[in-house]
Amino acid sequence: MLELNQLVMDFSGFRAVNGCSFKVDEGTITALIGPNGAGKTTLFNMIAGALKPTSGTITFQGGDITGLPSNELFSKGLVRTFQIPHEFHRLTALENLMMVAPNQPGEALLSNWLSWGRVKAVEKDVEAKAEETLEFLGLTQVAHERAGNLSGGQKKLLELGRTMMTDAKLVLLDEPAAGVNRTLLRKLEEKIEILNKERGYTFILIEHDMEMIEKLCDPVVCMAEGRVLIEGSFQTVRSDPQVLEAYLGE
Ligand code: ADP
Repeated sequence: MLELNQLVMDFSGFRAVNGCSFKVDEGTITALIGPNGAGKTTLFNMIAGALKPTSGTITFQGGDITGLPSNELFSKGLVRTFQIPHEFHRLTALENLMMVAPNQPGEALLSNWLSWGRVKAVEKDVEAKAEETLEFLGLTQVAHERAGNLSGGQKKLLELGRTMMTDAKLVLLDEPAAGVNRTLLRKLEEKIEILNKERGYTFILIEHDMEMIEKLCDPVVCMAEGRVLIEGSFQTVRSDPQVLEAYLGE
C-alpha cells in the first residue's frame, strides 16, 4: 500500500532521515519505534506531505506521492493525526467532526452552487455521520461539550473520529497513547483494532507504549539515527540487541 524508498531529509546540513526504506501492507498496523531523535516524526511529516524529502520516493497505492501537499494526500485517503490533538477548542465534539467531512455544505456550496435545500440535506448527512462516529467511539455523552473541555483521552478518540469522517485508508497516528489514562487507552486500542479488522483501515503509529504495540502492531519498525535498524514482529524487534543498544544510547 505504501512504499518508502531511500528517503532522506536534511535540515540545513543535518541529516535527520538517512536513507529510510520500508513497505506497509494493506490491512496491517505498523508501529514505528526508536529512541528520541531517531527521525520518526520527520519520516511521518514526509509521508503526510508536511515536509518535502531531500531525496527518495514515496509510493501510495501504486502512485508516486513524493512531495504532494497534505490536502492532496487527504483526498487520496492518507490522513495523519497528531501527538497533540488539533481540535477546535470552542466547537463542540460533534461540530469538530462535522468540520472535517470532505463534503461539508460550505465547500459544496462554493464549488457547485447547490441549492440551499441540497445544502441542508448534505449537512444532515454529515451530522448523522458525525453522530454515528461519536457513538462508535463512546463519546455520545459529550457530543455537545466544547472539545477544549474533553479529557486528553477523549481528545485522542475525537482525533480518531476525525479520520473516520473522511474516507481514510491509511491513517498515521502520532503517539496515540501519550497522555491517555489506562481505561481510555484500552478503549482507544479496541477502536483502532475494530477500524483495522472490520473497516479496512491500515495504520502506522509512532508509539512508545510497548503494551499497546505488543497488542496491536505487526510489524514493528525500529529506527535509529535516521535509518531503519530492524523490522519484524514485536518479539523479534524487542529481543534484538541492536535495539536495546539504540535505546541505551539515548
Ligand atoms: P523522533 O521523532 O524520532 O524523536 P525527529 O524526527 O523529531 O525524531 O528528529 C530527528 C532529528 O532531526 C533530531 O535530531 C531533531 O533534532 C532533528 N530535527 C527535526 N526537525 C528539525 C528541523 N525542523 N530543523 C532541524 N533539525 C530538526
